[in-house]
Amino acid sequence: MKEKELPYLPERLLPFFADRARDLPWRVNRTPYAVLVSEIMLQQTRVDTVINYFNRFMTELPEVRDLAEAPEEKLLHLWEGLGYYRRVRNLQAAAKMIMSDFGGKFPADETELRKLPGVGDYTAGAIASIAFGLPAPAVDGNVLRVLSRITCSSWDSDSAAAALRKQYPAERCSDFTESLMELGATVCVPNGAPHCGTCPVKDLCAASAGGWQFWPKKPDKKPRKREDLSVFLLRFHDRIACRKRPDTGLLAGLWELPNLPAPAQPDPRWGNVIETRKGKHIFTHVEWHMTVYTIEAAAEFPEFVWTVPGELPLPTAFRKFLG
Ligand code: SF4
Repeated sequence: MKEKELPYLPERLLPFFADRARDLPWRVNRTPYAVLVSEIMLQQTRVDTVINYFNRFMTELPEVRDLAEAPEEKLLHLWEGLGYYRRVRNLQAAAKMIMSDFGGKFPADETELRKLPGVGDYTAGAIASIAFGLPAPAVDGNVLRVLSRITCSSWDSDSAAAALRKQYPAERCSDFTESLMELGATVCVPNGAPHCGTCPVKDLCAASAGGWQFWPKKPDKKPRKREDLSVFLLRFHDRIACRKRPDTGLLAGLWELPNLPAPAQPDPRWGNVIETRKGKHIFTHVEWHMTVYTIEAAAEFPEFVWTVPGELPLPTAFRKFLG
């Protein structure tokens, strides 16, 4: 019975969390808005990176209403460099829905929270438990890793959520969710050996004596698709040429440097090519192999938007060539 150790988790993890939780800005004031913003930022992004982005975001847009009403360019600037821009679009769509459908207040209910754009079971559970103190598990890769190692068995999100839901301690739901996250992030770590010697559940854990590397079982990874691009960095004095990407697909609706599938060459009427460089950018499912042509432009051609670098939010895939 793989669940037999789980009832011991609260008594082990709550003191661990009280003693060893990291100071993180979103833990200072656990409002539903702060939990939502931090959890969306933390998807795909490391905590160290998120801290500054989170602080800046909350200073500029301190309330859900501010986010709902923020102009798109401001939002993209606040997100610039974090990648996965669909997240910030969903974040704003969620804020708008809170304002229009919920009277400006987050619903204290997992099912209602799941209706918000970009909010799935994990984020709904995180907001419901951390901000509202409800017994709602937030199961992500960290939690699945911890459970699968403790029990040396496979879990999926639904079975893990169902098993954990029964263990939530009344009055400490918020800390219990965060303690599981903390254990997965700092002790039973995703990369490299877990720190079993300092783990509060070591004596309960089936993998502590060895074999942690077999859990969780890894699905076969599909290779990333390769795309070759010619990228044109047109400079006219201190300005560069940009344009908007299509509204669908990768980096939808964001600014970009003009580009074409390789081996396209720069249009000779643009001016002289003064440098050619190679670069690569890796997305989750695609990798771009880029040949970047820096061009001394003969004029500000009207098919592009001309801007001083830094004025428009450019995704990292392009921004890294501006230096
Ligand atoms: S004892 Fe080791 S493998 Fe088990 S949960 Fe703790 S850190 Fe992970």
